[in-house]
Amino acid sequence: MTKARVSRGQYECKLCGPGKTYDRHGISVDHIIPIVDPLTGFTTWDSYVEKMFCEESGYQILCDFHHSAKTDGENAIRRKTRAERNAEKKQYREKKKRKDPKTNKHVGSSFDDFLKECGIVLEDYKPKHKSSKKSIKK
Ligand SMILES: [Zn+2]
Repeated sequence: MTKARVSRGQYECKLCGPGKTYDRHGISVDHIIPIVDPLTGFTTWDSYVEKMFCEESGYQILCDFHHSAKTDGENAIRRKTRAERNAEKKQYREKKKRKDPKTNKHVGSSFDDFLKECGIVLEDYKPKHKSSKKSIKK
């Protein structure tokens, strides 16, 4: 961070390289390692705080253009990983829905098929006072 200061009030952007200087209004202090890893997302407060208050070498000076470009890039990765994770979750839920937890067999899409697969006959579960009116042959 101190290296980035070229002269009083003038800073170099790490990505623009030497030669181009900005005053403090044109730069941002950037965490080289994103506080929240775009790939894993938020993990623990410990790691969040640790990265937030990293050593001076963990920072770099970027011009506003490169800083927002980097942030945009990280956010794009975040959105992508979040979308992928959601798709995975959805897929998992769909799979779970279609399997009978006891036999781990795929079951038909309809509720009747599901009952058949589990060997459940609905007649057996009818309340006695109703079934007693009719004679049900087994
Ligand atoms: Zn730059």
